[in-house]
Parts: sequence; structure tokens; C-alpha cells
Amino acid sequence: MHRVHMGVGASYVNILLHGLRTALGDGWGGSMMGTEISDVLFGTPKINQSKVNLGVLKEDYVNVSLHGHNPVLSDMVVRVSEDPDIQALAEEVGAKGVNLIGLCCTGNELLMRKGVPMAGNHLNQELVITTGALEAMIIDYQCIFPSLPRTASCYHTKIVSTSEKSKIVGSYYYDFKPENAYNTAKAILKMAVNNFPNRIPEKVIIPGKPVDMMAGFSVEAIQEALGGTFQPLIDAIAAGRIRGVVGIVGCNNPKVKHDYGHVTLAKELIKHDILCVETGCAAIASGKAGLLMPDAAFLAGPGLREICKALDIPPVLHMGSCVDCSRILVLLAELARALGVGIHQLPVAGAAPEWYSQKAVSIGSYFVASGVYTVLGVMPNITGSQNVTELLTGGVIGVVHANFAVEPDPEVAAKLIISHIDGKRKELGL
Ligand code: SF4
Repeated sequence: MHRVHMGVGASYVNILLHGLRTALGDGWGGSMMGTEISDVLFGTPKINQSKVNLGVLKEDYVNVSLHGHNPVLSDMVVRVSEDPDIQALAEEVGAKGVNLIGLCCTGNELLMRKGVPMAGNHLNQELVITTGALEAMIIDYQCIFPSLPRTASCYHTKIVSTSEKSKIVGSYYYDFKPENAYNTAKAILKMAVNNFPNRIPEKVIIPGKPVDMMAGFSVEAIQEALGGTFQPLIDAIAAGRIRGVVGIVGCNNPKVKHDYGHVTLAKELIKHDILCVETGCAAIASGKAGLLMPDAAFLAGPGLREICKALDIPPVLHMGSCVDCSRILVLLAELARALGVGIHQLPVAGAAPEWYSQKAVSIGSYFVASGVYTVLGVMPNITGSQNVTELLTGGVIGVVHANFAVEPDPEVAAKLIISHIDGKRKELGL
């Protein structure tokens, strides 16, 4: 706030470099602490199997979606859903039980640690209501459409907000605090179960079938899958069987056909033997497209395919929620340490093909400030200044050894990334 106050920041270079430093504080500080502390409280994710898309709703169950970013409440809701009182109440209203499903990054947190199925990503949040089979959507904060209560008013769905910071007009509000967590979660689930008889059968349409997916690829889980050391990955990169590693992250954006940017880019990269690691809504997009299963290796180039088959892992690894982009930083740091080079020298890149949120700006900035070339699919609102545009897409290389590029066509973006990775391999003599 101080740096952009009247009479302080008058140099665009000065302000932007400060912005990059602040982003580093997020990536290697705040965000990383968020991930670490979540792992301490709820457990470090391990590889697991689950399912994704709107087909995870069950017609004969009370369906409750968990949406937002905070694992604290949702973890408690998962525990309460097994409470015998809730089970008995569900049977009383004619349901077989309670079916919890995830959306966005609260969903990712639960998927990573508990294998809770995912209904979808950012642009699925209203669609899950239009199935007519959702009794309640429990929200915490971030990425929640303020229009949800209006959409829900066309159906029987109740929108339940739980964060003091993120009250939404038209939603039911429950003041959720760690001290009253169990009882609050129980009251919310009771409301959801009691809403089951209000379902309008003619409005129920659950489309498609769930798609299988694998998740839980924390850095620790990747290391374990590799046999306890990163050496096999290093060897594969050195031998060219894996050409490089790309982090595809970020949101859905209404300016981009839903999931098209994520899925097209991931398919192009794996085809060229580039391992993709993903978080947030990008990872959910890949899940819906079937890329998070070992079988998807048939779409990969011969080198990556062989590694996936040997380790029984997918060519696209789900590393968690958007806060878990810090896991990608840790992975890059491990690779750089093992090779004895800086992160900026690695054959790696970042991409956010459908980004929209403020947090994505910070994530992209800490990738670049950490030395990772990053390609955005949507142009940020910076083109009013040629100086700013040129600095972020070029001049900043002189300071952090990396820059942003913007390319809306994911096939062209893949070419940019492949050429960048090939350049880095050449510099390393690989
Ligand atoms: S990836 Fe973007 S849209 Fe999706 S949950 Fe994270 S910030 Fe929100």
C-alpha cells in the first residue's frame, strides 16, 4: 500500500520489482507455510485414487459440495458425515447416506488427503447446482460466485457461507470457528439432510459418468514413488527420456473455452516427453480429461510413457490446491540442488492458460521471480503501458533470469515452452 501511495512509487521499474519481491514472500513464505501447516494438521498427501466430474453426484444420496479454499471446516464436515446421527437422519428422509463432493481448492485439499471425489473446477460451480441433486453447497472463501444464491433459488439447493470475511448475500450464514467446529458442521449437515425431501425430481439431471483419477502427489509422495530419491527423475531428464518439467496451474476464465487451455497444453507437452505437474483448477481439468491416470501415458512421447509405465504413475501429476504451487517450488529446488544449478538453469517452465484471480497474479510472479519462464493464456491488464509490458515480458530477465510470455493459443504456447526447455537443456549440455 505504501509503495503505491501518492508521492511514493513513481518509477514503474521500482514498483514492479517490489511486486516481484512481495510475490517471493508469498511463494516461499506465506503460501509455503500454508501448505506446510496444512500438512502438519491434516497429513501430507499420499497417492490415492478418486473420481471427478458432475457424475460424482448420487441420485439416492444427500449431496453436499464443499467449495472454496479452507480445509479446516471441510475436514470437520467429512468427519461429521460419518456421525451415526447424520446417517440415521439421512435414512429417515429416504436417502442412502451423505455424499460429499469437492469443488475448486477446498475440494482439492480433501481430494489430496482423503480421496473425496471432485465435482469440478471453477466454471462448474453453478452447473453442479443445475443438476437439481445438490442439497447444500458449503462455502468458505475465494473463487465463489456471488451469484450462487440466485442460481440456487431456481432449485432447492441451500448455499451455506461460513467465513466472517466472506459473507454472501442470500446465503445461510454459520459462524464457523475451530472451537465450535464439530457442532457447526453437524448443524449444517442436518440442514442439508432435511433439505433432501425438497428435491424436485423432474429437475434432477446428473450428466455423464465419473472419470477415474489419481491424486495426492505431494513432493514427498513423488519422492516415494521414485524409490525414495529424486535421482531416477534426474537421470531421466539427463538422458532426455523426460525432456523437462512444466507446472500448469491456475483457474478457469470465462474468456477461454472451459478447460480447453489446460487440457490442450498438457496433451501437447506430454506428447513431447514433458512431465506436467499441476495444481488448482488446471489439475481438475486434466482429471476430467482422463490425464491423471497411468493409462493416459499412451498420449505421451516414448520416453515419458516408459517412465510412467515403470512407476505406474500418470504423465500429469496432481500436486494439490492453488496454495500448493509452493510444492512445485520445493520440487524445483530439489531438482536444482541435485543437479547443482540454479532453478533458472533447469529445463522447466510454468503456465497459467486460463488464469483469472489475484492469487494467480502472485503465483505467476513468484514463479518468474524464482527464475521460471511462465506463459499466461490470458493477457493481464498491463498493455496500457508499453514500458510495463516490455519489462515483464523481457527486461526482467536481467534481474531474475526469467520472464512472462502471453499466448492465448495453447498449441503455440506449447511450442514456446518446448523451445525454452530445449534451450535450457542445451545450456546445461544435455
Ligand atoms: S485455481 Fe484459480 S479459480 Fe481455481 S480455485 Fe484456485 S484461484 Fe480459484
